[in-house]
Amino acid sequence: MLKQYTLSSLSAADIEQLVARNTDATHAIQDTVLHIIDDVRSRGDASLIELTAKFDKVTLEKLYLDKEDIEELALTITRDQQRALEIAFQNIHRFHSTQVRKERPIETMPGVKCWREARPIEKVGLYIPGGSAVLPSTLLMLGVPARIAGCKEIVVCSPPQQSGKINGFVAYCLLLLKIERIYLVGGAQAIAGMAFGTATLPKVDKIFGPGNQFVTKTKSLVQGMTNVSIDMPAGPSEVLVIADESANAAFVAADLLAQAEHGPDSQAVLVATSTRLINEVNIALEQQLRILPRAEIARMAIANSYAVEATDLQEAMRFSNIYAPEHLILETDAWNTLTPAIINAGSVFLGHLTPESAGDYASGTNHTLPTSGYARSYSGVSVDSFVKKITFQYIDEEGLRQIGSTVEILAELEGLHAHKNAVSVRK
Ligand code: NAD
Repeated sequence: MLKQYTLSSLSAADIEQLVARNTDATHAIQDTVLHIIDDVRSRGDASLIELTAKFDKVTLEKLYLDKEDIEELALTITRDQQRALEIAFQNIHRFHSTQVRKERPIETMPGVKCWREARPIEKVGLYIPGGSAVLPSTLLMLGVPARIAGCKEIVVCSPPQQSGKINGFVAYCLLLLKIERIYLVGGAQAIAGMAFGTATLPKVDKIFGPGNQFVTKTKSLVQGMTNVSIDMPAGPSEVLVIADESANAAFVAADLLAQAEHGPDSQAVLVATSTRLINEVNIALEQQLRILPRAEIARMAIANSYAVEATDLQEAMRFSNIYAPEHLILETDAWNTLTPAIINAGSVFLGHLTPESAGDYASGTNHTLPTSGYARSYSGVSVDSFVKKITFQYIDEEGLRQIGSTVEILAELEGLHAHKNAVSVRK
């Protein structure tokens, strides 16, 4: 059963407390990962091997798999499974290709031309979660935009499975992406390894990918320690469903559980305009949980989740904007009148027939999205995440005549005479 609240009886402070998640208030996660970061920095490969034995229970002889291993593993999946990954690959490729746009130069004054050009980030590190579930879909979500952007070196890390390898699905995705090596390292140690580099694992310029709280915390810490950047804080997954009387309780319950099965720290929030619907969803949750293989995990996440009753859809949306969900699903006939009111959300799913799972795998949009309220300020991964936008300008004689005195006056008022002189000597 979902814990239940009535929005109109909650104070602003209650709401603030309700929407807080993954705050690591005791710093327990931070303390753990700081120790791991230090160890990887000082002992490199030896630390990666030891931490993999400790956390993943696998003793590695070699920290990576190469093309031949990958090709062999890719053969272990069926043709239907390969076909499903190919369709997902194609849709993700189609959607992300539209993000590549050339910007036109603009003349801000006669003879003063300015423009921006994109250049790929040269070395990128992709983290593919593999703790409680292996996510080959994440490899497609990160690898496709990295390929479209033209990144030169793509380093992929994922924790090894009990076999000491990766599964066939991840291997097939590597083939589709033409990536010939995968490093068998997970968690905080993978992120630290890619941030600082070890003898085997290359240092990268930017680290991408979702993960559990250890992964997410390490990503946010390493960017302050070395010149590496990160895509965003993409931690334990979450969904917020807004539903009214037009919603189907079984669909709503299925969407909440699709999120809950990710991990015990995932969160599934229902904001409904009717008590009857909340009751029906609770019944449907119980029915569906009975047949879920990952019911134990999902039950823990549901215990960490809740339902909120709102007086109408507008009030429901105001709550959603405060929560800033990674995934927002609008299970109402009125979804198209509600979308303009969305301010904070990672990815949005509209109507009764658009499950979040479609976007998780194959519709084309990216599933690497900001969590824990970061949808207030971050976007999900896209081709833009893999490029830098460099500005250019060209000034001719006429341009210098037009802009020269303005620059000279501004430089003088700031007391920067060398700046002024760089114009004056050209006139
Ligand atoms: P993971 O690969 O993120 O983490 C596994 C690693 O965690 C292990 O290899 C180990 O090194 C480390 N670890 C585990 N317990 C530890 C401990 N006690 N101390 C130190 N390190 C420890 O895989 P996961 O755990 O299955 O988590 C995947 C996460 O990714 C889920 O929380 C899921 O919700 C999230 N996710 C988010 C998005 C998004 O876009 N935000 C997308 C997909 C998945």
